[in-house]
Amino acid sequence: MPFKALGLHSVLLQATREMRYVEPTPIQSAAIPPILAGRDLIAAAQTGTGKTAAFLLPILHRLLSLPRGTTHALVVTPTRELAQQIDDVCLGLAYHTPLRVGLLIGGAPMHPQEKALRAGVDVLIATPGRLLDHMRLNQAPFADLHTLVLDEADRMLDMGFLPDLKRIIARLPARKQTLLFSATIPPVIERLAKEILHNPLPIQIGRRSAPAVGITQAAYPVAEHLKTALLQHLLRHTEMPSVLVFTRTKRGAKRLAHTIAADGFRVSELHSNLTQPQRNRAMEGFRRGDYQVLVATNIAARGLDVDHITHVISFDVPDVPDDYVHRVGRTGRAKAEGDAFVLVSPAEQKSLVQIERQIGQRLPRVELPDFDYSQRMPARSEKPGRPHRGRSGSTSAKSAPAPLGGRVSAHTSGSARPGGKGPSLHSARSGGRRRRRR
Ligand code: AMP
Repeated sequence: MPFKALGLHSVLLQATREMRYVEPTPIQSAAIPPILAGRDLIAAAQTGTGKTAAFLLPILHRLLSLPRGTTHALVVTPTRELAQQIDDVCLGLAYHTPLRVGLLIGGAPMHPQEKALRAGVDVLIATPGRLLDHMRLNQAPFADLHTLVLDEADRMLDMGFLPDLKRIIARLPARKQTLLFSATIPPVIERLAKEILHNPLPIQIGRRSAPAVGITQAAYPVAEHLKTALLQHLLRHTEMPSVLVFTRTKRGAKRLAHTIAADGFRVSELHSNLTQPQRNRAMEGFRRGDYQVLVATNIAARGLDVDHITHVISFDVPDVPDDYVHRVGRTGRAKAEGDAFVLVSPAEQKSLVQIERQIGQRLPRVELPDFDYSQRMPARSEKPGRPHRGRSGSTSAKSAPAPLGGRVSAHTSGSARPGGKGPSLHSARSGGRRRRRR
C-alpha cells in the first residue's frame, strides 16, 4: 500500500518522499487510519518498526486543519535521547507545514523552553520530569489538547515514571485521543491502559521476542577479569567500523571507555551521569562517525536509532532477556546487517540460558584461537577496566582486518555495509538535516 492510499495531506506525503520512506511499514499501515479516525490505540511495537512516524503522520495531518498557536498534541517519552529522536522525525515530517514543534527535556535550560511554550507550539515532545516542572509552573497550557502519545510506556514504568505519568494525565483534559505505544504489554501496562484509554484498538506489530533477521549473534565465554582484554582484542583484530558497547553500570561504562580510549580508539561514553550537552555530543559524534565506539548503559541507549552500527557488544549479560533483545536491536536496523556479541563470564551463564530460551535459539560459542585465555588476574593497579595511561590519542588504532579464524566465524562479517552506511532511510535527519523550530 502506498502512503498516498492513507489519505494523508500532500505536504506530509512530500516529506515522506524526501525522507525516503518508500511505503508504509506494517505499524504505519495499521495505526495511521484509526488514529486519523480519532480512535485510542494500544500498540505493541518497538523502535525500529517505524512507530514514530506511525503516530506523527496522522497527528500532523489532523493538526493542519486546527487553529495554530496552541498545543494540540503531546508526546511523552522516557529518555532525552528518544525525545530528541522524535523531535527530529517530527521536524522532518512537518517541514512543509506551518506547524511548530517544541521539545521539553531535562538537562537543558528551562528559559528557552518557557519562551517556546509562551509563543505557542502545536506539538510538544517531552520527558516526564521536565514536563511536570513546566506544568507545576503553569507554563504548559493543555486546554486544547487533542492527542496524547505515551511512547515506550513499558520503559517509562520500568524507570519509575508511573506516578509522574498519572500526575501529567491528571492535568490534561479528559476528552482527548490517547495513543499508547509499548514494546511489551505486561499486566501493569494493561491496567494503565484500562484506566486511561477509551475503547482502544489493540495493535501488535513485529513483536520482537527475538532479534531481527540479519543480525549475527555469538557468545564469547571469558573470565570476568579478561573481558576488557577480549574486547580490546576484538576491536584490534576485527573489522568493526561502528560499535555500540553496553555495560550494566555507569561506572563500568566510564571505566571501559577510558581504557579503550587509552588503547588508541576513538571512543565516547553515554550514560545518565553525564550532562545533557555531553550526552548530545556523544550521540552526535557517534552518529557522524567521529567515534568508532560508544560505550553506553541500557537506559541511555534505549531505542537509539543510529543507522550504521555494525556491532553491538554486550560487555555484561543483561539480567532481563528483553534488555538483550533491545540492545541487539540497535544494529541490523532498517533491514541492514549487523553483528551482536555478548561476553559471558561463568557467573553469567545462567542469564545467557534465559536469553536463549526467550529468543528460541542457542548462540554459537566463540573462542578466539589467538587470545590468551590463561592470563592471570592483573595486579590491583591494572585492574581490568581501570583507566590506564597507555598509548594516548584519539585516532583510530585499527589495523587492517585480519580474519580471526575462530571456531565460529560470526565475528568476521562486520564489514557488510560499505562505509558503514547502506542506503539511508534517514536523509532528512542526518548530515544536512533540516532543522526548523518556529
Ligand atoms: P522508529 O521505529 O520510529 O524508531 O523508526 C525506525 C527507523 O525507520 C527510523 O530511522 C525511521 O526514519 C525509519 N522509517 C520510518 N518509517 C519508514 C518507512 N515507511 N520507510 C522506511 N523507513 C522508515
